[in-house]
Amino acid sequence: MASVDLTFLGTGNAFAPGGLCWNGFLLDGRHMFEAPPQALQSLNRLDVDPNSVETVVLSHQHGDHFLGLPFLLLHWEHMGRTAPVRIIAPLGTRESMLRACELAFPDVTAGQYGIEWADAEAGRSVGAGGMTIEPVEVNHDPKLERCLGYHVQYGGRRLGYTGDSTLCDGVLDLARGAEVLVSECASRDMQLPVHMNLVDDIPVLRGAMQVTSELVLTHLGPNIDTNGLPHTRVAEDLVRYAL
Ligand SMILES: [Zn+2]
Repeated sequence: MASVDLTFLGTGNAFAPGGLCWNGFLLDGRHMFEAPPQALQSLNRLDVDPNSVETVVLSHQHGDHFLGLPFLLLHWEHMGRTAPVRIIAPLGTRESMLRACELAFPDVTAGQYGIEWADAEAGRSVGAGGMTIEPVEVNHDPKLERCLGYHVQYGGRRLGYTGDSTLCDGVLDLARGAEVLVSECASRDMQLPVHMNLVDDIPVLRGAMQVTSELVLTHLGPNIDTNGLPHTRVAEDLVRYAL
C-alpha cells in the first residue's frame, strides 16, 4: 500500500505562535494544500522546485491560507515555469484572490505557462493531477463566501483535510472517510466560534475516525500535543511524513 506522503510548509495558525510558519502542506511533493504567506520560502528551504508544484488547493479566503499565492505566481512568471498549474479554490473567491495578487505584483497573473483555475463547491468533485477531490462545506467564518474541507483520493488512499472549521457535520464526515486526516487545531482549550480546540473537539473528531486511521494536527495554537490520543501526531514545520 502506497504511503500518504505529506510535507508541511508550516503548521501555525494565523498568529504564527512561537514563530511557527503558517499552515500548509504538500501531498506527494507536488500538490500544495493552502498557499500560506511563506509558501515560496518554505519550498526553497525544503529544496522543492517551486515550478514542480502542479496543483494548489485552497480552503478559504483568509490571508494565512492564500497570501503566498502572489509570490508563487511571481516565481512562476519569471523563473522559468513552462507547465500549467491548477488552482482549486472555493467558488466566489477567484476574483478577489487574483486582485490581491495583482496588488502585490502587477501583471503577475498573466501566467504564460497556463493558470487553470477551478471553482470548488460542496458535492462537486474536481480532478487534478491524479487526485479526485471532493469539497465538503465546513463551518468557519460566516463573513466568507465559502469555507471548504476536502476528501482527496490519491494513489489508492483516502486523505481528508478540514481546512479551518468548528467541529461540524462537515469535519465529522471527513473524519469518517479518511485513512489520514489533516485537521486544524487552533488552540489548546479556547472555545472559539470559528475553530476547534485540542481538549474539547479533537477527541470527538478522533472518535469519529477508524481506529487505525492517522490524525495529523496542524494550524496550531500554542502548547498543542497529542492529548494522549492514539494514532495522532502534531505536525512540525518543514517535516515530511509517510503515513
Ligand atoms: Zn481561517
